[in-house]
Amino acid sequence: MSSSLVVAVDGPSGSGKSSVSRAAARALGVAFLDTGAMYRAVTWAAMRDGIDLGDAVAVATHVRSVALSMGTDPAAPTVAVVGADGAETDLTEAVRSAEVTGNVSAVASVPDVRHDLVLRQRALIESACVAPLAGRNAGVVAEGRDITTVVAPDADVRILLTADESVRLARRAQQDLGAADEAAVAATRHAVVERDRVDSRTTAFTSAADGVVTLDSTHLDFEGTVAAVLEVVARATTPSGERP
Ligand code: C5P
Repeated sequence: MSSSLVVAVDGPSGSGKSSVSRAAARALGVAFLDTGAMYRAVTWAAMRDGIDLGDAVAVATHVRSVALSMGTDPAAPTVAVVGADGAETDLTEAVRSAEVTGNVSAVASVPDVRHDLVLRQRALIESACVAPLAGRNAGVVAEGRDITTVVAPDADVRILLTADESVRLARRAQQDLGAADEAAVAATRHAVVERDRVDSRTTAFTSAADGVVTLDSTHLDFEGTVAAVLEVVARATTPSGERP
């Protein structure tokens, strides 16, 4: 068995994959990689530089020029762009804006953008395995839409985190608007449902690929979902001869 641990988690909007993956990474003492933040950061940069987001060639060319710096400490994950002078612009908050959320699917649907970011994601995963930061175990929990299928199909553990749409809408409304009443859910619906609809043309995150464990969190709270993820990890990483 390898001495590093790669856990791949995919899922739709509001499935809780970011917060759950982050907590699982903390519990396992490994790095945390939010690949959605990378798509968001290159979208932010393209918007800043006035790139026509309908022009796939211009977008892909621009994305290639954007250096990202990903902070993978699960206690405080960060994303930044690095300027030509080496100065970092922290975007951890900015990438969550409604404008970025509204444009990110268009950028993420460009095949050359995906190719570029998938290579960077694989390099970050590799580096978390071979050169973990001090005090960290070798490995990473990486989450997104295509981690189990494209970025890390050979991951030690592959999980598709799902939840019923009504539950995902309520969670996202609570997270973004601080309430999950009818009005808040209605205001969130477009961002969640429409983004997933557009994203599902590019990535397959609504059904599990072969060998991927589906974890339905509809009836689980946050702690219960984290515990379920850790249980899948424990089962997958315990040699079968050692199981009770
Ligand atoms: O997970 P999050 O909502 O931050 O992802 C933002 C967007 O990035 C998604 O809506 C999707 O368009 C894109 N994405 C992707 N592949 C990933 C992660 C995110 O296409 N692995």
